[in-house]
Amino acid sequence: MRRIERLKIEARQSCEWRGHSMGRFTRDNYWKEVRYSHCKVCGMQVVVDAHPAPNSITIGGEAVALDCGSSSHWDAGWVDHDEGYDWHKGGTE
Ligand SMILES: [Zn+2]
Repeated sequence: MRRIERLKIEARQSCEWRGHSMGRFTRDNYWKEVRYSHCKVCGMQVVVDAHPAPNSITIGGEAVALDCGSSSHWDAGWVDHDEGYDWHKGGTE
């Protein structure tokens, strides 16, 4: 299994342990080794980086640090690239 796939599973498990219901991981067109996903309930993000910089972390984001619904850190301006699921709950477009 590729490293990124293993990291995605690990990240998802960490998020679900926090009570999140994570959507599908999205690939970034620029950061090729980065995948990110958002909780369908509270909108927190998890980011997975298969080749992090020396001062960076492999799995990061609010969703691994905070329990589901415990924060109001909702970025209404964020636009998701995920196909199929529109989690863009509000804010301005
Ligand atoms: Zn959540």
